[in-house]
Amino acid sequence: MDKTARKRFIMIGLFAAAVCAAVIFCTLFTPCIAVSLDGERIAYASSEESFLEFERGFRKSLVSDTGHDPAKNAEYTYRSAVCLKSKADDFVSARKKIALYDGVLSEACVLRVNGAFAGGTKTREAIESVLDRLKAKYVSGVEGEVAGFVEDVSIEDGFALPEQITGEEELFDSLMSLGYYEKEYTSFHGDTLVIVASRLGMPPETFAELNPDFPRSRIEPGTKFTLTIGRPKLRVRIDRVVDMHEQIPYETHVEIKEDGFEDDVEVLQKGVFGEKLVKKRVVIENGVVTRTMELESTTISDPVDQIERRGALARLTTGSGALMWPVRGWISSDFGTRESGSHSGIDIAAPQGSVICACDGGEVTYSGDNGLYGLFVSIDHKNGFVTRYAHMSEIIVSEGDRVTKGQIIGYVGATGNATGPHLHLEVKVKGAIVDPNLYLE
Ligand SMILES: [Zn+2]
Repeated sequence: MDKTARKRFIMIGLFAAAVCAAVIFCTLFTPCIAVSLDGERIAYASSEESFLEFERGFRKSLVSDTGHDPAKNAEYTYRSAVCLKSKADDFVSARKKIALYDGVLSEACVLRVNGAFAGGTKTREAIESVLDRLKAKYVSGVEGEVAGFVEDVSIEDGFALPEQITGEEELFDSLMSLGYYEKEYTSFHGDTLVIVASRLGMPPETFAELNPDFPRSRIEPGTKFTLTIGRPKLRVRIDRVVDMHEQIPYETHVEIKEDGFEDDVEVLQKGVFGEKLVKKRVVIENGVVTRTMELESTTISDPVDQIERRGALARLTTGSGALMWPVRGWISSDFGTRESGSHSGIDIAAPQGSVICACDGGEVTYSGDNGLYGLFVSIDHKNGFVTRYAHMSEIIVSEGDRVTKGQIIGYVGATGNATGPHLHLEVKVKGAIVDPNLYLE
């Protein structure tokens, strides 16, 4: 290689190196704004606006956490610069400089509950230990149990007033102590004090104490209440899967017996509860069960149906007002005038020994032989109606008996002044003899 060739080779090499360096520089570095506070550089920002946006937001969060604004008098200066791309808009060290600017706040490890400042300690371990102790209060040690918190919890390196930085004991007590607030509540169907308390995540005793006027009895759905809620800042949520033995209810089948009374029940087969093993997921918040979900159910034994036989007749002792025909037969003599004189009822002819039923529910006020009427029954239906039955062959009710509509009171005969077997039926309404045909259905 001659001299000229070597020279050209070096030139090309240098040029290539310069291009490479430029490419590398442009990849790693960027033009930016250097921000200084009291002459000390605290950050590189992509623009003044991006720094000021961060600065306003950060100071606002400090005021909300501590009630103190450490940098309200701070003045920033800006100048153009070049910085590593990764350093632009990285405000970690600026946070510290701003927070500690007037010397009121200190560095602390901060616990946040649902985003709000809930306490500060010197170390992260102190907060972690307090959180573990809270969980331990509610953990049962059952396999598969998961302990967490109802609220969102975060731990961060932050800033606090010296009096906000506490020991573990103080933080533990502060998290356990109740915070109070009011809540509008509209009741649901089936609500009771215990159910509402559980829905709001409070033990019933605490709920009752804070809401002394809340009804202890059944609550109408749709009722509006203003309730006082007392809840710790931070609540432990335990998620547990449990196995429970539960009963399976049996069904009851009823056979109807036409001639018995409704309260005359005969158990033909006794019902037996079945049993099942139910796997449930249970969510418990600070000791209050707030949710259960059935995951799986295994039947251990099937239930056995109960079979009952009961009567069809109602124990009606007061008349319904509607009279039923007491006998199956035909009218052989109507109400009103006839050759031998006025007829005070109707005659229903029927074979000797036919069943006679009470026309309606009521009380037997006469039962026995009554001269021309023969064997005779009178029933007061206690609603202004009285029915009277004459010429019976046999009576099976006694004075004072309460009878239901359709109950058998005796049998057709021809006792007293009668020429053949029939029932002479009389109906009185408020003491007046009336035509039974008007009331029989
Ligand atoms: Zn008659």
